Amino acid sequence: MHDETELYRLMSALDAKNFNTCFYCGCIATKYDLTPPIKYAAFYLNTREEADFYKVPACRECFDFLKYDKSGLLGQRVDVAKRMLARKYKRAIRIYEVWDPDEIDDLAYQLKHCVNAGIVLGKESYERVTFKGFDFEADGEKHSAHYVTNEVFSVLGEKFDNFRDALDYGSKAYRIPKAKLIQMFTEHNNCFDTAINIFHEKITRKIYQKKLKDKCKNFSIEHKQNIKFVMRTVEIYCKQEQSLTIETALSKLYEERIKKSSIPVLTPA
Ligand SMILES: [Zn+2]
Repeated sequence: MHDETELYRLMSALDAKNFNTCFYCGCIATKYDLTPPIKYAAFYLNTREEADFYKVPACRECFDFLKYDKSGLLGQRVDVAKRMLARKYKRAIRIYEVWDPDEIDDLAYQLKHCVNAGIVLGKESYERVTFKGFDFEADGEKHSAHYVTNEVFSVLGEKFDNFRDALDYGSKAYRIPKAKLIQMFTEHNNCFDTAINIFHEKITRKIYQKKLKDKCKNFSIEHKQNIKFVMRTVEIYCKQEQSLTIETALSKLYEERIKKSSIPVLTPA
């Protein structure tokens, strides 16, 4: 069995404000997480697999998240802790992202209370998930790699450094309910641009379909035609000739297919 004090280098924050702070989430540190855990130390030493051998200040929760993880590099353990945090507080983070404190005044008392609590927990969890660590010293060496990349969210040309603001902007500027926008964002490769474009394409398509159906229905009643035939022909016409509108396509249909067949063609003698 290896001796912990020989193998591991204690990580100490350079700035006093980070003393006793969990490197993973920024909460108060009460434990030390070992990278890698002591029971895997022999494995790393024998195989010469890369490992940091840091003694990392950690809060109870992050310590527990990492208890069974055998990663030997600090960056890997940061990823695991963040992933577990994000998963555990997913609901609260979602509430924080979606709800605007100004919007909850109208809710019934009980619900308002729940949403408020969710926002508070969600905000705290979000900050922990995005906490960037701190500059530290280990064995006389200074380190300032924080392992957390700055995520940038782009919404049709506008840039945001956090999801919540991007969502808020996208929802307001493009008139999409936040819950719907989140759903489409996740369905489309975490891309706001695609989500917004597809949402609007769908709406435009729906409006067009409704208009097409209404106009073709009136037309088919007026000229005693089958509505499916009328709609199909209008769509084919519009595809062939991009400049046609539903109205001009209907006139074309009338001219080419209906007028001729209903009025006997009289050829001069
Ligand atoms: Zn923590």
